[in-house]
Amino acid sequence: MSVKVTGIARFGLLEKLDHSVEVNAGSLMKRFARAIESLTPEEKTEWQKVQERLSRICKSAEEEKIGVFIDAEETWIQDPIDVVTILMMEQFNKDKVVVYNTLQLYRHDRLQFLKDSYEAAVQRNFILGTKLVRGAYMEKERKRAKQMNYPSPIQPDKGTTDRDFNASIQFCIEHLDRISLVIATHNEYSNLFTTQLLQQKELPLNHPNVHFSQLYGMSDNITLNLAKVGCHVSKYLPFGPIKDVIPYLMRRAQENTSVKGQTGRELALIKKELQRRGG
Ligand SMILES: Cc1cc2nc3c(=O)[nH]c(=O)nc-3n(C[C@H](O)[C@H](O)[C@H](O)COP(=O)(O)OP(=O)(O)OC[C@H]3O[C@@H](n4cnc5c(N)ncnc54)[C@H](O)[C@@H]3O)c2cc1C
Repeated sequence: MSVKVTGIARFGLLEKLDHSVEVNAGSLMKRFARAIESLTPEEKTEWQKVQERLSRICKSAEEEKIGVFIDAEETWIQDPIDVVTILMMEQFNKDKVVVYNTLQLYRHDRLQFLKDSYEAAVQRNFILGTKLVRGAYMEKERKRAKQMNYPSPIQPDKGTTDRDFNASIQFCIEHLDRISLVIATHNEYSNLFTTQLLQQKELPLNHPNVHFSQLYGMSDNITLNLAKVGCHVSKYLPFGPIKDVIPYLMRRAQENTSVKGQTGRELALIKKELQRRGG
């Protein structure tokens, strides 16, 4: 099950918390504890309620043996999302994995954040659930950074995003004793790279800590081939208010319809198969 924290928390509260986190001064958890002091008593209660809501969701998921993927959102609200997710992992990921954080590798600081999260998992003794994505809000992030005159949090180009995405896969595969990994991508190479790494390390393709996921209705050729060789796969089925879900699906479809995009490749494969069947 996937959860957006903005579905259970007020955006303005997340924004205020994120804004109050000092940059470059110790661990995120410590800096965040100081940020909470900037809240009014009412806001502190509101934040407490957000944590309780997420904890209830995780508890039910644990009872039903379902994983909870916390989605990554805009950088200007992401710190509180990361903190609350780490707290949930500490509570629920002791001897199995219930909660997964999402890392957007189009951010230039996320490979380091993955390593820091791993250190936190070692120190606080929990299993790190990590869902890797490239990131969905690139234009919005760049535009805001430009408008508000701060350095863009986004990588300079696609090649750098790809480099960090694949390096993160490698880091996770090398630490599977304490990391459970979801590779959430329509990128053919990143999926192939993961299976090759597992084979090189003589790990099974159906390793319990390695999962693959694509959006429902997209990249079935990748999902089906991964499933065929025994990998754990899932399709991500977004639902919610029409006004939010339709723009979400449009953005995903747009990302994938460029000539190099996945939908273009997928349609070509479907046409080829239809021809093969004489249709
Ligand atoms: C199961 C699943 C769950 C997801 N959950 C989330 C989530 O929680 N949060 C979220 O933000 N997104 C999420 N996404 C969307 C994801 O972040 C990507 O937007 C989408 O999957 C396209 O990336 P790709 O790896 O599939 O494909 P690719 O086509 O290989 O990559 C496209 C992506 O590369 C990056 N990119 C493209 N051009 C540039 C450039 N010039 N400079 C730097 N980077 C560039 C962008 O992130 C772009 O979306 C999810 C996707 C899937 C499949």
